[in-house]
Amino acid sequence: MGTSPKTRLTIIVLAISRAPVYLYQYYTTQQDQVTHNRRLFLSFWGSIFLCDDHIKHHFKPNLHRSAIAGTSMGEAKTMKWLLNISALLVFLCFWGGECKYMVYDTSQKIHADKINVHLVPHSHDDVGWLKTVDQYYTGANNSIRGACVQNVLDSVISALLDDKNRKFIYVEIAFFERWWNQQSELLKAKVKELVNTGRLEFINGGMCMHDEATPHYIDLIDQTTLGHMFILREFGQKPRVGWQIDPFGHSSVQAYLLGAEVGFDSLFFARMDYQDRDKRKIDKTLEVVWQGSKSLGSSSQLFTGIFPRHYDPPDGFTFEINDVSPPIQDDVLLFDYNVQERVNDFVAAAMAQANVTRTNHIMWCMGTDFRYQYAVSWFRQMDKFIHYVNLDGRVNALYSTPSIYTDAKFAANEIWPLKTDDFFPYADKENTYWTGYFTSRPAFKGYVRAMSGYHLAARQLEFYKGRNNSGPNTDSLANAMAIAQHHDAVSGTQRQHVASDYAMRISIGYEDAEKVVAESLAFLTSSRSSDSYEKSVATFQQCPLLNISYCPPSEAVYANGKSLVVVVYNSLGWKREEVVRIPVSSNELIVKSSDGKEIESQILPIFNASLNMRNYHVKAYLGKSPSNTPKYWLGFTASLPPLGFSTYIISNAKHTDGRSRMSTVSTSDSISDETVVVGGGNLKLIYATNEGKLTRYINNRSLVEGSMEHSYSYYSGSNGTDQASGAYIFRPNATFPIKSQEQKDLTIVRGPLMDEVHQQLNSWIYQVTRVYKDKEHAEVEFTIGPIPIDDGVGKEITTQITTSLKTNKTFYTDSNGRDFIKRVRDFRPDWELQVNEPIAGNYYPINLGAYVRDESMELSVLVDRAVGGASLVDGQIELMLHRRLLYDDKKGVGEVLNETVCVLNDCKGLMIQGKYYIRIDPLGNGAKWRRTYGQEIYSPLLLAFSEQDGNDWKNNHVSSLSMIDASYSLPNNTAIITLQELESGKVLLRLAHLYEVGEDKDYSVMASVELKKLFPDRKIKKVTEMNLSGNQERSEMEKKKLAWKVKGSSEEAEIVRGGGVDSEKLVVELGPMEIRTFFIDLDYLKMFGSV
Ligand SMILES: [Zn+2]
Repeated sequence: MGTSPKTRLTIIVLAISRAPVYLYQYYTTQQDQVTHNRRLFLSFWGSIFLCDDHIKHHFKPNLHRSAIAGTSMGEAKTMKWLLNISALLVFLCFWGGECKYMVYDTSQKIHADKINVHLVPHSHDDVGWLKTVDQYYTGANNSIRGACVQNVLDSVISALLDDKNRKFIYVEIAFFERWWNQQSELLKAKVKELVNTGRLEFINGGMCMHDEATPHYIDLIDQTTLGHMFILREFGQKPRVGWQIDPFGHSSVQAYLLGAEVGFDSLFFARMDYQDRDKRKIDKTLEVVWQGSKSLGSSSQLFTGIFPRHYDPPDGFTFEINDVSPPIQDDVLLFDYNVQERVNDFVAAAMAQANVTRTNHIMWCMGTDFRYQYAVSWFRQMDKFIHYVNLDGRVNALYSTPSIYTDAKFAANEIWPLKTDDFFPYADKENTYWTGYFTSRPAFKGYVRAMSGYHLAARQLEFYKGRNNSGPNTDSLANAMAIAQHHDAVSGTQRQHVASDYAMRISIGYEDAEKVVAESLAFLTSSRSSDSYEKSVATFQQCPLLNISYCPPSEAVYANGKSLVVVVYNSLGWKREEVVRIPVSSNELIVKSSDGKEIESQILPIFNASLNMRNYHVKAYLGKSPSNTPKYWLGFTASLPPLGFSTYIISNAKHTDGRSRMSTVSTSDSISDETVVVGGGNLKLIYATNEGKLTRYINNRSLVEGSMEHSYSYYSGSNGTDQASGAYIFRPNATFPIKSQEQKDLTIVRGPLMDEVHQQLNSWIYQVTRVYKDKEHAEVEFTIGPIPIDDGVGKEITTQITTSLKTNKTFYTDSNGRDFIKRVRDFRPDWELQVNEPIAGNYYPINLGAYVRDESMELSVLVDRAVGGASLVDGQIELMLHRRLLYDDKKGVGEVLNETVCVLNDCKGLMIQGKYYIRIDPLGNGAKWRRTYGQEIYSPLLLAFSEQDGNDWKNNHVSSLSMIDASYSLPNNTAIITLQELESGKVLLRLAHLYEVGEDKDYSVMASVELKKLFPDRKIKKVTEMNLSGNQERSEMEKKKLAWKVKGSSEEAEIVRGGGVDSEKLVVELGPMEIRTFFIDLDYLKMFGSV
């Protein structure tokens, strides 16, 4: 083919213009220094070649800079001339049409014989932290931090569409779902194509990257399910990989439950103890097979990769627009041409990582927090690296994802080391233990936990009434609870305005759920005639502030034949008897149960301490002072059927028979004996009257007896000079016991249902120890705060329960409310621990409880929210209950953890009120209480209030009902952890075995649940067993499962799991610690409440 005149002209121009460049290149090899004029001259000649992209992005800024930077008049003239010439030549270049884009070959796949560097482009988008979730999404409040997730997604999608080899992973569905809903159908189709071809891959796939220390496992399952269902619905995809890169320590529940049981093939994270990491680098054990559960053993293993450094790229490979890493400059005309240099850097970094990694596959996390806001700046560099590194050939670089990486690891046929237990606590250096956040923001942690149990119950009630897709429904609570599990949400490590934002979202969700509950109870209690249902709709009130003794319906005065109706709902599958307490205005009351019988009840005084707290916080939360002041607590024992409700009618006593019994109140200084015994049932607590403290614990039934002390102390937080104690970090510099200096007196309240011991330990710690006649544990209700800081010292408040048990440095804490893990003081199973922080380094997260034991007894403590805890002395359990600090710990939040509550502009340090529960059992008997009562703490009785005029409630309403077969109850080792009507009309049922293997002689056995009896009024059409997050059938998940080779897996006992569900018998079996998830299609035979 001949050349046209136009082409010929271009060649001539190019030849002429090339000449000075060759000259220049020759010259620079001869001389180190090039004079300024020569540079200037050549730079303009060089510009001729650089068409479009190169000129726009590389050359123009240089041109601009040299034009401005200190040029003399003579130079300016020369420059003007050169500009004219170069402009002409650029024109010729365009006119000639011969300039080309540089095409980079990014198609590289895995190379079997080389070190493969898997480049995984990612952005870590916190669902709230320094800014709220909305602010991060929209890019608002950028003065705090320039972060806009919308920009990330917009620019990533466009960069992916530019080159079919580029890949990206996305993790946080709370953000992605918002973005997705705003896109056009056209773009959605393109994004679907990206997902279907594996160029955009969802990993992790929950609404957020949840924390692993402080959430309850039910919340973890719920938030993962919500995200996975979105991905399935919109894309038909099932995430394969867990990506928990940022949480500050890692739980075994994450590995086996939210990993293996979800169907993940692998899990990746970054943060681990620095000593552990150092050792694993040497041993090449940063990648392991993690077996998180003793009970499920090898049937629930997960390949787990820990990054050798953080979740960002090796130094020098970050390419956000303001990053300082040198970009590849690959045009020979650029003075800073650096291809070989950068390829060398790349190879060196790859080899360093390969030296601590098994197999010839390594992963680079190409991104970090809120990156890819201008995605092409990363992809441009990665395109070039892949191109040039592979031309170089020493290592193999490719666009990849964690799934591709996992498959490569699996194909390598390596035998991997086994990891059991978990990765707590996490320290990133000597004095920096991330164990403060186990307790940070205790009020928010308590709120999240309370709403978790409420959410579970509200979903059940929503199902029984029938879900209303257009609302009100439980969706907004589900969404709010999902993002509250984020690793800067329930962890307490966000800024204050973000914490308030999470709480507000939950409270908005609660309002909807409260309506669902009220409507459903109105529906379920309505009997035959439909007009009574109409009449009772919306008459149920609930009392979310009951914990601070504020409950307007129960405080009302019921006169003139009116009475208070209390409907009590039990969301557990077994019967319960429990004392209910409500504030009331009269002490002359009669309580009648569902069958109309008067039942025993007790009136207790409300002390000033509670009333002050109540009045202040009602004003703070509701903006108005309460109109009434209740005078008493009324306690009565509610008896509940499984998954059902009972009704209690409370009215003024017309006669003294059957009237509530008034408690007797005495103080220890009026008692002449040295000791005083508290407790009207099997459990007795002995107090020394002169010291005003607990000394002994006796159970007359189990014959357990031993010394027991109960104390409070505080740690003073280290200040800001070195490593401070802060939202994340616990760094005590001293311990101070809190003696009950001001008042040694005990106030003892006694009555037929319960005894209470009130202690004002100091001006900011108040404690009530409660012993119920029919229970064998002590319930401790504490009120702490405002923690004084006027001495300039931040404080972390702890309580100690001390016994004489010989516990040999060992104690046990739960993992997200599920499996218990053995902890040994100053010891780690995986490496020789160098002890630098003897207190903070022995703290562990507690969600359900902790226990210690010796050869004859076990002491258990259960909690009502996530806290940190330790056993620093044999026989003792310590819990951290509250923290107020004065320095930032320099881990990013940039704010001091100093929570306050304000009424108008009057702010004071946060007060918290909470409970923990103590019990001692003979050795081997503690699990029964920890598991069964632990579930009751998680799912407290739900109270709804209405009013009766006259005496006709019973005639017009169903006063007691179990939603399951009247003769049936779930075994005491199983719980329904989800019963939810999905948008599709299917029912999601999740059943959990509550015991571990070997934990209890009676209950650590196979349990079975009869589905027909769970749905007595409905016909079960179809039961499909699903994976944990409900996005695929269990059988499909099992089929795909990768069987990793594991070194050091010892002989294990046979794993017990339930078998298939026979479609006729419909019985579900559950082995210890097993959770099974089902989709059930039901036909409605009849509605509850109908004939
Ligand atoms: Zn994060």
